[in-house]
Amino acid sequence: MFNSLSDRLTATFTNLRGKGRLTESDINSTIRDIRMALLDADVALPVVKQFTRGVRERALGAEVSQALNPGQQVVKIVNEELVEILGGQTRRLNMAKSGPTVIMLAGLQGSGKTTFAGKLARRLRDEGHFPVLVAADLQRPNAVRQLEVVGERAGVPVFSPERGNEGGHDAVSENAEGTRSYGDPVWVAQAGVNQAKLRQYDVVIVDTAGRLAVDENLMQQAADIREAINPHEVLFVIDAMIGQAAIETATAFQDGVDFTGVVLSKLDGDARGGAALSVASITGRPIMYASTGEGVKDIEVFHPDRMASRILD
Ligand code: GDP
Repeated sequence: MFNSLSDRLTATFTNLRGKGRLTESDINSTIRDIRMALLDADVALPVVKQFTRGVRERALGAEVSQALNPGQQVVKIVNEELVEILGGQTRRLNMAKSGPTVIMLAGLQGSGKTTFAGKLARRLRDEGHFPVLVAADLQRPNAVRQLEVVGERAGVPVFSPERGNEGGHDAVSENAEGTRSYGDPVWVAQAGVNQAKLRQYDVVIVDTAGRLAVDENLMQQAADIREAINPHEVLFVIDAMIGQAAIETATAFQDGVDFTGVVLSKLDGDARGGAALSVASITGRPIMYASTGEGVKDIEVFHPDRMASRILD
């Protein structure tokens, strides 16, 4: 995904690494090159500014002038600042102390939510958990079926509205208003979580509807689901290939549903991807997973430090 960014930065640093003393003009020209490389990779302007400011301040300070190897010290600073932009430390899932951990997924249609739901479920299953998937995307006619297929592939049961639940409606209670509708995603999500509790699943992954673009109904529905199920995590799935629209989309979802973490999907693609890298910095929410293919095992925990090294090496 970040090949061209990586190549550009590596080229910039090749000159620097071997240098003895660095003049202010060496540092300025390096920062200029970094800035151009980031902008060309689609990293959002405010993020580029914050990044270059951080690097400049540190590079002009004693940290570099007194270093034995100033060139390498600058590279180290760039690495550390990049880790910060990418969210700092690796963030793990916030698991419930008792009862099931509820994880809600949100994002635009086509972002890779349903695919990711299967991958996460499979990964958690492999780690010894008992996850269940809940199909609360009732917007797209095929979405429920798609999640069922994903569940089958992952070897994880699916609570879907057509069947009422994974094995019989009897235990599903009415919602607060006493209405009971299989067409209501809030109800389906809530019923899914109730089922998980009754059947002692320890993780519930709730897939929600997306639209092709952000709209108010979508946000309201996601916000209503969030309120109804009070999830431990709300993961915002974003297609790393959507370019600059990533910023606007992420901000809209942050305002609308206030997610707790980000999933970058389609990181196996060859787009520039810098906009997606800006999402953690712009929203203040960590990137937690990368989705790297269509297969059920194509999922990685996102480590900001490893990603920074991958980009800079
Ligand atoms: P949803 O509408 O958000 O649920 O998105 P889907 O999960 O249906 O994914 C949309 C399309 O993207 C599907 O064709 C998926 O196979 C594909 N897709 C999802 N995640 C990835 C990924 O990480 N890499 C690649 N290459 N394709 C993906």
